[in-house]
Amino acid sequence: MAAVKEKRNIRKEIHNKLDDNVMQGALAKFTSEYPQARLKAYANVDSIDDLRDDLRMMKRWSVDHIDALADEFQHSVEERGGKVFRAADGEAVKKILLQICAENGVKRIVKSKSMASEEIKLNGALEDAGLHVRETDLGEWMLSVAGQKPSHMVMPAIHLNKEQCAGFFEQELHEEVPSDISYMIHTARRVLREEFLSADMGITGANFGIAENGAIGLVTNEGNARLVTTTPRIHVVLIGYEKLIPKVKDAAKILRLLPRNGTCQRMTSYMTMVSGPTPVIYKKEDKWVEEMRKEYVILLDNGRLEAAKDPKMKQVYQCVRCASCLNVCPIWRMVGGHVYGHIYSGGIGAILTGLLGNLEAFSKFSDLCIGCRQCTTICPGEIPIPDLIDELRARYVKKYGLSMPEKTAFQHILTHRKVFHSLLRIGSVAQKPVQSGKFIRHLPLFFSGMTDGRSLPAIAAKPLRDRTEKLCRHNPKNPVMTAAFFSGCNMDFVFPDTGESVVKVLQDLNIAVTYPQEQTCCGKPVLGMGDRETGKVIAKQNIEALEAIKADVIISACPTCAETLERTYKELFKDDPEWRDRAAALAGKVREFTSFAAEQYKKQGRSLPQAERGIRITYHDSCHMKRGLGVWEEPRALLKMTGADFVEMKDSDRCCGMAGAFGVKYSEISKPILHDKLENIENTHADMVAVACPACLMQIGGGLNQQNPRIKVKHVADILAECIAER
Ligand code: SF4
Ligand code: SF4
Repeated sequence: MAAVKEKRNIRKEIHNKLDDNVMQGALAKFTSEYPQARLKAYANVDSIDDLRDDLRMMKRWSVDHIDALADEFQHSVEERGGKVFRAADGEAVKKILLQICAENGVKRIVKSKSMASEEIKLNGALEDAGLHVRETDLGEWMLSVAGQKPSHMVMPAIHLNKEQCAGFFEQELHEEVPSDISYMIHTARRVLREEFLSADMGITGANFGIAENGAIGLVTNEGNARLVTTTPRIHVVLIGYEKLIPKVKDAAKILRLLPRNGTCQRMTSYMTMVSGPTPVIYKKEDKWVEEMRKEYVILLDNGRLEAAKDPKMKQVYQCVRCASCLNVCPIWRMVGGHVYGHIYSGGIGAILTGLLGNLEAFSKFSDLCIGCRQCTTICPGEIPIPDLIDELRARYVKKYGLSMPEKTAFQHILTHRKVFHSLLRIGSVAQKPVQSGKFIRHLPLFFSGMTDGRSLPAIAAKPLRDRTEKLCRHNPKNPVMTAAFFSGCNMDFVFPDTGESVVKVLQDLNIAVTYPQEQTCCGKPVLGMGDRETGKVIAKQNIEALEAIKADVIISACPTCAETLERTYKELFKDDPEWRDRAAALAGKVREFTSFAAEQYKKQGRSLPQAERGIRITYHDSCHMKRGLGVWEEPRALLKMTGADFVEMKDSDRCCGMAGAFGVKYSEISKPILHDKLENIENTHADMVAVACPACLMQIGGGLNQQNPRIKVKHVADILAECIAER
């Protein structure tokens, strides 16, 4: 089935955002200050992870009992005098609301921030029906004047500066407004106060809805939500099913994390609970009257109930919409929220977009997630965002198939090792006109942008697989164990010297190494694109190639390959008992090179000649190594063994911008990310930066080659091999 194509030029939108100096300045400042500010808000907490576990478990229970919770919530609200509607989608919400407005003579509406109302484009529908609708959250109000969508779930206007905001004030109020923040706040108060007092209806969202007593909670900083709930004679709550929680005490599990993660506050300025209608005084036919306020709650489905029954995707119910996943996302930092093309941006935005019914829109920007896992370390609900994106990509490919070039590359080239490797060998010859040593420094014509500020690595003249027979002749006579070396494509064809270093280090540890010639790409590129069927073909080839060696351990010096062999293959074959068992047996033998080498040097009581004495070395953590495999101490321990003067860089575990094909496909985003990384490296005044991942070696090496060739970049294996050569 072909997907319906949406007419958007995302490349152009990305370029516009990268050229938006106001947005770039705002996001750079905010994202660089956020991690410390967040930690400060947690300073009085013993274990953030315990709080996250509590929240995750409560939300998991809630999603598993969502129907019963919704019934209980409805009963509790109605017992207190409110009325609950259940809306299947946005159209149903609009119909219900217009009916309420008609029955109650509503003409004027005030709203506080509600992502659910953005999701269903509520304001436009109400205005089309002739109603006066006013957003009262300052950021939302300015965006409604500007005709823009929020670029962040919590700080919707974060991409604007005060001058732009003053411009929107002037446009709306037809009066001169200086770009002075406190003046603008006073002006907004003056104008909005009139709106509150003349409104017939207030519409809010909710941060949570409590089944036990029918209360809804609003966590805000501006106080506008309180006025929306208390001044008009009608209050409508629009709340998604995912916001329902069982008990009052469960609200605390959200409140301990949401403000700290969302706005770096221990508690926001206002925490409001609304539980049932209260008396209200208003003017009716020129007379002041006191009546009970009417409270209506609309429970929005819009794909949520189906997601709740999906064993994998139901994890989105753990989201409390704090937006901290955006605050640490290297891609959101560069492009902002609008490029994602939907109300919800960033990785969680991609997931929600796909789940709430728009898989085609999801496919448009799902590759803006590079799987760096920064978000997973911080998410209060412990949602594995990149894994859920992978799942949706696979569902998209299953439904719509791959594009023709992807199909050709994956199914007709990558599954045929000899064809794939022959093409790489041809490439090593064809690249000669643009090759400069181990790099391609300049590409011609429309490819030139790819080498602007960053060299690309050249394919080696002789791959690792052609060198290993000779190398393995130096295996120890009485080894302590045997190892199969899984090099991955990068080390085989681009960095074969590093592959040689890995073999030499293992031999120094008295380990006999074999290089299985039948090994091929680990399959991560196709799996990352959602093509699981081709991924399985490739995985089987590798499992067979590695099983044939019968080695004690399988060593990989590429964290992405190690993670794929160790974790992904098992998951891939979870429904196929034979291959699942074979994948599990393989996984049990896989070891990432640096953690294995550090362990062996320690176990064997061995040291290294201190060949790097006098050299200042810093280390860059690869995303897959640190957050995928949980390895970061061991490479540092190895580097310290070399006698080098080790120095940490700022944000050592922030992505370098390579992320497989992303670094080439989206070179315009990859390069500014690399720029920040190089700046952090330079600030250490190191002579050398060490990495333990060939993709990072490629990206950082390419950047330093053009921008600061004084600083060398080496894989940890190369540094160790240099020390061993001194023995
Ligand atoms: S996915 Fe996690 S970090 Fe992102 S908004 Fe939801 S709760 Fe917050
Ligand atoms: S994995 Fe990285 S790129 Fe993807 S959403 Fe999370 S932080 Fe952003």
